[in-house]
Amino acid sequence: MADAVTKCVHCGFCLPACPTYAEIGTEADTPRGRIVIMKEVLEGSLSVADASPHVDACLGCLACEPACPSGVPYRDLISAYRAKTNPERKRSLTDKIKRKVISQTLPYPARFQAAARLGQLSKPLSGLVPPAFRPMLDLLPQEKLPRMVVYPPSVEPAPETPRQGRVALLLGCAQQALDPDINDATIEVLNRNGVEVVIPPTQGCCGALSWHIGEMGDAQKFAINNLAAFPADVDAVITNAAGCGSGIHEYPLILKGTSAEAAAQAMAERTRDISVHLGRLAELAPIPDPGRPLRIAYHDACHLANAQGVRQPPRDLLRAIPQVEVVEIPDGGTCCGSAGTYNIDQPEIAASLGRKKAEFIRELNADLVVSGNIGCLTQLRAHLADDKGGTIPIRHTVQVLRDAYAGKLGSA
Ligand code: SF4
Ligand code: SF4
Repeated sequence: MADAVTKCVHCGFCLPACPTYAEIGTEADTPRGRIVIMKEVLEGSLSVADASPHVDACLGCLACEPACPSGVPYRDLISAYRAKTNPERKRSLTDKIKRKVISQTLPYPARFQAAARLGQLSKPLSGLVPPAFRPMLDLLPQEKLPRMVVYPPSVEPAPETPRQGRVALLLGCAQQALDPDINDATIEVLNRNGVEVVIPPTQGCCGALSWHIGEMGDAQKFAINNLAAFPADVDAVITNAAGCGSGIHEYPLILKGTSAEAAAQAMAERTRDISVHLGRLAELAPIPDPGRPLRIAYHDACHLANAQGVRQPPRDLLRAIPQVEVVEIPDGGTCCGSAGTYNIDQPEIAASLGRKKAEFIRELNADLVVSGNIGCLTQLRAHLADDKGGTIPIRHTVQVLRDAYAGKLGSA
């Protein structure tokens, strides 16, 4: 934490990159303002309560990091600060209940899906639901949630496919409940490229959600479980949700000073987003021509682009599909407002960011919107749907690849 505080020279280059500063417009809600505020709390000259509105309004999108010429590691400060000050936070009863509901459902796919189904049934009665809980209902899809999938411990490529290694897959919590097809597509694309996929049966939540809301004990518990669950004799641990990938990359910080720190470092180093792993294969299996041109708007998930530095690999994969044009969303990669549980905790700012993102996307006249994070996909779906039920199809990068391999992309 000290590094982030001392490195900041208050130059202000990060200000234009910060989406919440653009929304709120006060110095206390700039990255440098938040750094000063957190420093003052840690030094004892400001109360946690006075700092909270500004720290809570931070998305954790890390757009300030690449914008900072001094290399301030903001990521090392924000979640660690939240974990350190969480015990001192005075919270309203509603806030406590909301956090309990989130922490007891989201990291557990079966529970989360059951709660989401209940939430879908409650949607027509949302006016009777306390306002603090309505954003949760608003984000739930209208369609019936698909059945969750139970995978075997390993899925091998067809015998005739030349082998290109062996990986382990993290399934993700919200993803298994909301869109299990993303994991199906990941396994299919890896198998088609000769990669065996190990699916550790004792894996659990990556812990990112707990870490980002300041629940250090839970974050450590989830991280330690996954250190034991994932084998070391694989080429890589694959993540296909940006939030999970960045969460595992933060294991060394989550487990800093514990006996598991070295194992956390090793797991972080062998964890890769699916787009990075596919891009590193010696050869990508040829992708058939979908039979028509496709214009794809690619949305950078903050926890992929800013947190993991993964911008080019998903674009390269999509461009490897014949007749695909990848178009950029002309907002400089601003956060869509999803950001973990931000769209539940700070629904007004999150909705404003979601609406703006949707406006930029609509102007592109794209056939498909693609991203690499279940949170962003959910947020974009909610904001791209119009009053008449119209929308633009929204897919994960691996779903597009899987459909292209299967010759089904032309009908997307
Ligand atoms: S750009 Fe970096 S050094 Fe400058 S104010 Fe922002 S965080 Fe501080
Ligand atoms: S993480 Fe995002 S919202 Fe928070 S200070 Fe940095 S740019 Fe602003």
